[in-house]
Amino acid sequence: MANPLQIIERGFVFVRENPQIIYTLFLLVIIPFAFFYTSERFLQIARQNQDSLERSRVGLLTDVFVEFAHERMSDPSYLHDRIRSIAQQNETIVRFDVLLATGSTKMIVASLHPDTVGSDFTFLPEQEKTAPLFDLVQAYPNHALTDTYTSRGARVMRTVRGILSPESPVMSRYVVIDFSMAAADQRARESIRNAYLVLFGVIFLIIVLLARQARIIDYASLYRKLKDVDRMKDDFVSMAAHELRSPLTIIRGYTEMVAESEHLSSESRGHLANIDRAATQLNTLIGDILDVAKLQEGRMSFSLVHVDVSTEIGMVVDSFLRPAQDKGLVLTYAPTPLPLIAVDTDRFRQVMVNFIGNAIKYTPNGSVTVSAQEESGMVSIRISDTGMGISAEDQQKLFQKFYRVKGTHMQGITGTGLGLWITQEIVHAMKGTISVESIRGKGTDFIVRFPVAKPAV
Ligand code: ADP
Repeated sequence: MANPLQIIERGFVFVRENPQIIYTLFLLVIIPFAFFYTSERFLQIARQNQDSLERSRVGLLTDVFVEFAHERMSDPSYLHDRIRSIAQQNETIVRFDVLLATGSTKMIVASLHPDTVGSDFTFLPEQEKTAPLFDLVQAYPNHALTDTYTSRGARVMRTVRGILSPESPVMSRYVVIDFSMAAADQRARESIRNAYLVLFGVIFLIIVLLARQARIIDYASLYRKLKDVDRMKDDFVSMAAHELRSPLTIIRGYTEMVAESEHLSSESRGHLANIDRAATQLNTLIGDILDVAKLQEGRMSFSLVHVDVSTEIGMVVDSFLRPAQDKGLVLTYAPTPLPLIAVDTDRFRQVMVNFIGNAIKYTPNGSVTVSAQEESGMVSIRISDTGMGISAEDQQKLFQKFYRVKGTHMQGITGTGLGLWITQEIVHAMKGTISVESIRGKGTDFIVRFPVAKPAV
């Protein structure tokens, strides 16, 4: 069991190896915070603007009312008509009273609610909430003063304007108008709700992305582990191949020795030939596996020298004359003088052995022709056969590791499917190219090109 300290340490290492977690968490905090702050700020400003707009509208309305009704303050029916017509045009008005101050009472003389006429405004419910407005109005006669209070959960904006009587300097009348802010506040609440919905959407998206990223991190560590296993497998295969070589050499040596004996029956000779064939095949396979390992790990060395292509091809062709003849094939090569190319001699021979060997292997009858020529700064070597040919589809996959064409015509022909992959890697390493032209059932041409070597200075 890991102790808490080890768990913390492991977590720390994990985060250090996957810094994208930090960025994502940072985004997860920063984006909602920025969103929250901006929407709150925006709403605050919107509400302030709304309030100040409302305030000037109410003030204007009060001023207009007082201007018109000033001369007829003692005519209640005129005041009622005015109040009603103003309230009809402004749906948000919930109270509109004209008060007459006598002593400590403020009697309602005209109102949007006629049933309250005759009562003392001071004793109406919730009036104490805006009592200071009436004190302030004393200091600012003929000014509309505004304040907001909350009534049954909704904001109300109250405007009070005092009217000085022409006869006395004492404030005798007041106009009180209440505007309900419920609709405006409702709209603001809806905007907040929508903003938060968007915010939750964004957070949800970030969480989804985070979850995906966690999976990507999983894949990345899985990929690393797979690569490690792959490397271990390659190491094991190349080690096993090395170890197989020595016993195989012993088997081949003793097979050769026994085959030299004169007292062997023809049946035993046949058995020995089978052993030799199998051992040779195994040897080729081991050679291929070791070459693949070397190429993959970049351990194959190339010592490039200026090589005369004609001589090298001639030697390889000569070594194949016997096997070709055994198969009843005509193997030809007409050497021509060619410029030198810069290649590793042994690797160049290996390439030619593979192409010519394949051409003989996959040609049941007919001929194999090797030719070489110079064309636009390249030495082009063509290995043509009249064999089984390769379909266009197979040509695409030909150079993949372990790829062998399938079909009845391949029966009995052994191989590893590694030769062309190795050949291609070697040719590319020596700055050469390979192309293939083939018609299924007619034959195949492999063309290898190497750049002409620059003259030594
Ligand atoms: P191997 O010969 O060991 O199978 P290679 O990598 O050398 O592996 O070749 C891959 C496959 O390409 C062969 O299995 C064969 O099907 C096809 N091939 C190669 N050369 C020829 C050729 N000259 N004609 C027809 N098919 C060929």
